[in-house]
Amino acid sequence: ADTERDTLRKKLPEWVETSRKLSASGKVAQYIPELAGAPAGALGITILGPGPGDLLQAGDVGCRFTMQSISKVFTLLLALMDRGEDGVFAKVGMEPTGDDFNSMLKLELVEPGIPFNPMINAGAITVTSLIEGEDPLTKFDRILAFFRKLSGDPELTYNPRVYKSEALTAHRNRSLAYFLKDNAVLGPDEDVEDILDVYFKHCSIEVDCGHLARLGLVLALDGKDPVDGTQLIPTRYVQIVKTFMFSCGMYNASGEFAIRVGIPAKSGVAGGILAVVPDRYGIGVIGPALNRYGNSTAGVHLLETLSGALDWSLF
Ligand code: GLN
Repeated sequence: ADTERDTLRKKLPEWVETSRKLSASGKVAQYIPELAGAPAGALGITILGPGPGDLLQAGDVGCRFTMQSISKVFTLLLALMDRGEDGVFAKVGMEPTGDDFNSMLKLELVEPGIPFNPMINAGAITVTSLIEGEDPLTKFDRILAFFRKLSGDPELTYNPRVYKSEALTAHRNRSLAYFLKDNAVLGPDEDVEDILDVYFKHCSIEVDCGHLARLGLVLALDGKDPVDGTQLIPTRYVQIVKTFMFSCGMYNASGEFAIRVGIPAKSGVAGGILAVVPDRYGIGVIGPALNRYGNSTAGVHLLETLSGALDWSLF
């Protein structure tokens, strides 16, 4: 482990600069207008381990960005803690789709019209509806409190401009949600606009690579607080979300990522990637230029380089 850390310390800046060149072949997300202004050539990474001084960073680690789909991992954890496995999996499946993250193609194929998995938008909107709280504000407060506890940052909050920008333009997510309502996946008491509002807000929670690395480290440690060892999340639920990250976390590029990188990861359209090296590291990456699957082009390349050089694949 010491030689690995030495290698990382020596090589990380150079690997970041090599991967950064890949940004040129990607494109910053435009469909949420407020995301379009992100710096296309940025690339930063934080790698955090449990030991003192176990922190490695390189590139644009000061960059702040919204979590977007990375939040889906944690809303799923909260829903599992609120409703248990049976409650959650009555409403959402466990299978990868092979389709784009916001696809409507297969919504009616899994009985009885439930979304394939919690990492695609339809699944994550459903999961958001399962989080306890009398009204949308209470629900979101509970989500934010959960993120603050796991990240160790009491100031963590959402970016109101990104939230508003998505809320005003989310025609596709709106149609997905109304379709779920029509299929009774969202129940009779669920107000579609209220659920969407909570969903847009948790997608807009603003972080940097350090936050993602810390959140990833909690998952790497099977739900334990990296500082005081408290069990923050039941181990079984962490196992479930890491499995989803592995099979569906990079959307319809999850199979290729599993072969090339081989660790659980979750991407977001703002260009963030949260990755987990089980028992060892939480990793946060930002690179806003995306490939056609909505994953950071340079970020994926950087993780592939690291995994290849340090033999991180689980297999
Ligand atoms: N908020 C985004 C959306 O719903 C999240 C998608 C993503 O990060 N892939 O479209």
